[in-house]
Amino acid sequence: MDDFLVIDHVSKSFGPQRAVDDVSLSVRQGEAFSLLGPSGCGKTTLLRMIAGFERPDRGRILVAGQDITALPPEQRPVNTVFQNYALFPHMSVWENVAFGLRMSRRPREEIRSGVDRMLDLVRLSEHARKRPAQLSGGQRQRVAIARALVKRPQVLLLDEPLAALDLKLRQHMQMELNTIHEQVGTTFIYVTHDQGEAMSLSSRIAVLNSGRLEQVDAPASLYENPRSSFVASFIGDANFFTGVAQEFQHEGYLRVLIEGLGSPLVQSNGAVSANQPLRLMVRPEKISLTLARPSSGDRVNAFRGIVEDIAYFGSHTRYRIRAGEHSILAQLQRSRLSGGEIDPARGAEVWMSFHPDEGRVVRLEDAA
Ligand code: ATP
Repeated sequence: MDDFLVIDHVSKSFGPQRAVDDVSLSVRQGEAFSLLGPSGCGKTTLLRMIAGFERPDRGRILVAGQDITALPPEQRPVNTVFQNYALFPHMSVWENVAFGLRMSRRPREEIRSGVDRMLDLVRLSEHARKRPAQLSGGQRQRVAIARALVKRPQVLLLDEPLAALDLKLRQHMQMELNTIHEQVGTTFIYVTHDQGEAMSLSSRIAVLNSGRLEQVDAPASLYENPRSSFVASFIGDANFFTGVAQEFQHEGYLRVLIEGLGSPLVQSNGAVSANQPLRLMVRPEKISLTLARPSSGDRVNAFRGIVEDIAYFGSHTRYRIRAGEHSILAQLQRSRLSGGEIDPARGAEVWMSFHPDEGRVVRLEDAA
């Protein structure tokens, strides 16, 4: 179903503060979806409205066609995994997972088989008798997920699920969460401020900025075709150039005049007219560095610059390159060095180049 969870023109204010401002979006049944944005963008408020802890001032929330806007949390087909896991410290893992079913007075056999099945799913069967304090952070989180899933909610909300874990465990749990999601097939909605987390956990992401929805798309679309400077700079690193549209050329390419740099040819996304001011975005890893000017004619945009700073990261190196007033970030995969590219030293004069298809026109009105 394409619109399994529907957020329909939802707004919520706290006094003068508009936490969520007229947000509409749909999540598919069984999808892993993320609400992503910086601190204060309203993602937690949106999550709390889906869970039922907060009531919207305006708008509706539907699950499987049912309007749940006015239902209390316990009557919604929704459950939440909280950031701090909220486990009962005095109960065993097994009892923690059984708690919700016990409260709703399910038959003993149903509780037993449901809890066993969930502990098996999160691979904690052999730790069933332990207390939460005897578990690692990742294991505790898996208990919290099992406890939230055992009542078979139609939507599982996960609030910053990896924030409490260290880097190695976080990377491991990203994979683990994907496996759990695949096995249960429940609709998962993550809330996170971490773009890498959102990209690795979900098939689509809603990017929020100051309570408003900026863009909803698959991770690769957000990265490759951000519609605003905000999305472009929130999802990965980006070079921005302010310019003016010049003449249109064949196949939808557009020449853009960038003062102090030149006139690169880029893909126009159709919404641009001649002489219009605009912003051009190029990802650092799309920029090649060579000693000589690239010779493939018109199809390559090439500019000269001087390497100002270098940072080595093992798998890749980043360079800050000065070209007049412009400071440009380029990123080189080590594996590309064999393809004619160079690894310049600080102070070296280089050619930066990118293919017209790698330049994106984004809206000018948003400050990067
Ligand atoms: P964070 O990642 O820091 O939790 P967030 O993106 O989840 O941020 P929200 O917690 O939804 O953002 O908050 C959105 C805005 O609403 C913020 O300006 C916040 O201060 C405000 N806000 C949220 N909850 C309340 C509340 N209960 N009372 C007053 N203001 C609130």
